[in-house]
Amino acid sequence: MSELLELAVVTDMHGTERLSDFMLQYYGRVKGKHARIRTIRANPRASDLGVRYIHEDLNRVFPGNHESSSYEQSRAAEIMDRLQGKNVTYNASENSLLAANHDPVDLVLDLHRSYADTDPFCLISELSEAHKTIMRCFNMRRMIDISFNGKLTGTLLHHFSGVMLEFGRLEEYGNTEYVQRCLRKGFHNLLSEEHLDPIFVDRFREYGSLSREHYQSLRSKGEEQIQNFERFSKEQRRLLDLPPNTVPAFINGYPDRWCRVLQHVDTVEC
Ligand SMILES: [Zn+2]
Repeated sequence: MSELLELAVVTDMHGTERLSDFMLQYYGRVKGKHARIRTIRANPRASDLGVRYIHEDLNRVFPGNHESSSYEQSRAAEIMDRLQGKNVTYNASENSLLAANHDPVDLVLDLHRSYADTDPFCLISELSEAHKTIMRCFNMRRMIDISFNGKLTGTLLHHFSGVMLEFGRLEEYGNTEYVQRCLRKGFHNLLSEEHLDPIFVDRFREYGSLSREHYQSLRSKGEEQIQNFERFSKEQRRLLDLPPNTVPAFINGYPDRWCRVLQHVDTVEC
């Protein structure tokens, strides 16, 4: 990439997936070979309380509404303003991580964490050269393209170009160090002069989902635990009536859905 990317790193979109403390080291504007980064703490109230959200899931209400009594609706509207470079005044205590500049942002890096036992993966809604740079720098080998999923709406990615990064093993011992290591390496690659070889990234689309009951019925039939991004066994596919090129991807925060069922689309050089 020749042009410098204006990148906004969004943390704490879900209050239980806090990474704002880690991002403090990148406070303000950090400039490197590929990008200039700034950080936005998306849902500070939920993050301070350790809950996913205050009134509703922030990552389902974009572009938001300044007039709404829902905290997340008004917060989404503020974040959109900031990403678009609008010159507006905010509550300073809630926006302490916002760098004091108003340049419009090219790309958003939206950081999430999950309980799933999984290597990092990402969600995208488009795939430009800038997106591919992010894949390469953060060594993302799997992406879920949400543009195939007509039912999902209101995420930040539906309204702003970006990459949602998911880091698993939220409850595992040493997990914080694990996520920090992944992020530190990614930001190092993004900001350093080092050359990175292309990588090959598997792209998936959402095929369906499994409920907890589905999953438990598999276990009661003696079927083994299903692993993130590992193919279902023949018997699991038969029991669930799934085609061969499908894999599970576990998700947080949905009472009715236990995991996504993904279908492999292609492999992309990034
Ligand atoms: Zn999340």
